Amino acid sequence: MENILLHQCCGPCSIYPIAILKDKFEITGYFYNPNIHPVLELYTRLENTIKVNNFYNVKSVYNDEYGLKDFFQFRDVEKEKRCSYCYAIRLKNTAKFASENGFKYYTSSLLYSKYQNHTQIRELGENFGKEFNVEFYYYDFREGWKDGIRISKEMNIYRQQYCGCIYSEEERYMTQLSKKIRSTYLPL
Ligand code: SF4
Repeated sequence: MENILLHQCCGPCSIYPIAILKDKFEITGYFYNPNIHPVLELYTRLENTIKVNNFYNVKSVYNDEYGLKDFFQFRDVEKEKRCSYCYAIRLKNTAKFASENGFKYYTSSLLYSKYQNHTQIRELGENFGKEFNVEFYYYDFREGWKDGIRISKEMNIYRQQYCGCIYSEEERYMTQLSKKIRSTYLPL
């Protein structure tokens, strides 16, 4: 069986890719997500990725680099630009690791998410594959969106409510919490 390095953004998003890849490849998981803020969230997602890997008996490598300071150096916080940067740092690091450690293929659980820019992830994956001489295995894991959710609930895996960076946390909660607090405590 050929080997493949699976970049894992979190536990729930890894479930369906593992189910698809395990019959074709010898999988090694690779957690590398310095864009997940704050630290508590990073380690919660890491812990739940470990639970998924243990459940499926997937070998794994965990890189718990925390990139908040670097992320702030990148000042363009408009969603499209910051997400390109965020995909690129993760895929580049994964391709490099795959190349340095003898993997023939690499891929990413980012291809499972309906909320990410799928086309861009594929393009970046293929480009970094060429740069580091490791083949990017493209698969549209979004086909298993519902299965992944169902299984993660059955396994009681933590399911995050925002994408990862501090800006996505703001977009997810700011309006909702502000409305709630105002209507509860500060009625006009
Ligand atoms: S919204 Fe998600 S993909 Fe975009 S920069 Fe933030 S963590 Fe990365």
